[in-house]
Amino acid sequence: MSDDCLFCRIASGEAESERVAEGDRWVAFRDVNPQAPTHVLVIPRQHVENLNDLEPGREELLGELLMAARQVAEQEGLDEGYRVVANNDRQAGQSVFHLHFHVLGGRAMGWPPG
Ligand code: 5GP
Ligand code: ZN
Repeated sequence: MSDDCLFCRIASGEAESERVAEGDRWVAFRDVNPQAPTHVLVIPRQHVENLNDLEPGREELLGELLMAARQVAEQEGLDEGYRVVANNDRQAGQSVFHLHFHVLGGRAMGWPPG
């Protein structure tokens, strides 16, 4: 846990969020500035900055986060499709440096992304 990390505070419950699901090692909550009718963030409880900061051997955690994204999509009724996105580092647009997967759905999506 990093005291100055917003998502660590959300994971611990110290900062408010609208939680939609959780597991032993992850938490899913609604994005405060949604970019689609459903926009949920899935984060590990443990502080990891992004994929580049994830040590080899943590593949199981990554798999669990993606399965959590799938669970959220199912729970949110995104049966026509959804997008799972992780922005890694500044040029990709990462603004919160605690690993998170965006789960977006409920509208048609364009490609390539901006
Ligand atoms: P990034 O830009 O790092 O990929 O995504 C960070 C996301 O966190 C953004 O979509 C932003 O709207 C969301 N966010 C930032 N601050 C808060 C907050 O305090 N609460 C919630 N629920 N989401 C936040
Ligand atoms: Zn953190």
